[in-house]
Amino acid sequence: MQQQQIARELSKIKAWYIENWPLCIFCGHRIKEGEGDLAHLIRRSYSRELQTVKLNTGLAHRECHNIFDNEPDQAVYLPRIIEVLYIIFLLSSDYFNLIADHYEQLSEAIQLFPSVPYQKIEHHGELLTLQYLLP
Ligand SMILES: [Zn+2]
Repeated sequence: MQQQQIARELSKIKAWYIENWPLCIFCGHRIKEGEGDLAHLIRRSYSRELQTVKLNTGLAHRECHNIFDNEPDQAVYLPRIIEVLYIIFLLSSDYFNLIADHYEQLSEAIQLFPSVPYQKIEHHGELLTLQYLLP
């Protein structure tokens, strides 16, 4: 995909989230109009392919986004970090293993990820419905 095409895809995804799930992927609180960044869970530098996958993205407050990207010792306290890590686990177990060390405090929860019955999800908002926990 060309750079321009990627930018177009990302602005489409951002518009979709603004319309459908205007909540911060990291803290769960509402994003006011014009305030959200489109954040990537798996870094864009790690995977070109995943940068335009909707499940790898979400709206985020600039501050929450910054904590997630740059302050792993604080990121452990982001309210939706378990869901974020679960999505990363679904998208790329290799990348998940690279970052899992930063989240040792959450290891009990993280250990359960492989036993969550797999259900295809398209975007992080679906985790809020808890449907994925049902058989
Ligand atoms: Zn937030």
